[in-house]
Amino acid sequence: MKALVIRAFGGPEVLEEAELPDPVPGPGEARVRVHAVVVARTKDVAARAGKPPFAQQITSLPHVLGTEHAGVIDQVGPGLDDDLVGKRVAVSAVLSCSRCRACGLSREEACSEFRLVGIHRQGSYAEYCVVPVKNVREIPAEVGFVEAAALAANGGVASAQLDAGEVGLDTTVLVPGAGGALGATVAALAAFRGARVIGVDRRPPRLAGLPLVALDAAAQDLPERILEAVGSAGLDCVVDNLGVTALCEAYLPALGALGRVVVSGAINHDPIPIRLLQFYLRSQSLIGVRTGNRRQIDRLWADVSAGFRPPAGFVHEIPWTQVSDAHASIQSGGTHGQLVLTVDGS
Ligand SMILES: [Zn+2]
Repeated sequence: MKALVIRAFGGPEVLEEAELPDPVPGPGEARVRVHAVVVARTKDVAARAGKPPFAQQITSLPHVLGTEHAGVIDQVGPGLDDDLVGKRVAVSAVLSCSRCRACGLSREEACSEFRLVGIHRQGSYAEYCVVPVKNVREIPAEVGFVEAAALAANGGVASAQLDAGEVGLDTTVLVPGAGGALGATVAALAAFRGARVIGVDRRPPRLAGLPLVALDAAAQDLPERILEAVGSAGLDCVVDNLGVTALCEAYLPALGALGRVVVSGAINHDPIPIRLLQFYLRSQSLIGVRTGNRRQIDRLWADVSAGFRPPAGFVHEIPWTQVSDAHASIQSGGTHGQLVLTVDGS
């Protein structure tokens, strides 16, 4: 098969096309003919550059990057039903051990042996990728592979965050960084689940078209604007994928009684300035979410079957022959939305 490999860590130019043996699925595994694969900032771009946290976990070169993807099952390993062959599927990248305490609680996201397709085993920048069958979800006929790959990447995490933050009908949620690929998916999914959404972004034009009240992160009076947009009941939840101190200081006063702050990001490793007096007097919670577990991913695909799609304009398709350009664009911060590589047949 054709694949994109790295033979050394370095700049985007180290990604090169190679001919590799077709992978063979083992027990409990399916082989996916890959049609679309996301380009991920930390798991692909930083790892390719040799940066933590994932590059150090790639133990052999050449290596095939590529995490969440979508395609068609073309072969299954021993013990699996042949009816799976031909199914159009999206694949999540998190590998769990099924043995540890977290896995026993169906909380695979906290697995003590947490591993990833594309880091700890060969990934999906390739014509074929072998994955555990528990990682695949059938996609509705009307959902394309590019959309499905983007949903597998951002939707599972978004679903987990909203689930942890109990965001649903008649709740108000604030999303800092709502103009990013993940933030926009969180905002759109929250609205789909019936929540009222307030989006904050340092580039407010990126919020145009999203189902939310848009606020400028750079506004001098951001705390007052948030309080005004929220109203007297206060925020039920904040889904914060940034962890920027100034933004936390702006939204925490608006967090209501029983409010939840869900965090899945800490871009500058900043401390979050929580004042404990307010926090306990209002019975508030701070919840860390690493990624989606099986139940939360199932819920995402149930929402997709019911009509949920990635927000318009946030998914960009690029032929996989242009992978180096895609990496360079993300590295330079010039990317808006989720880049998805389309994988051609040989
Ligand atoms: Zn485990």
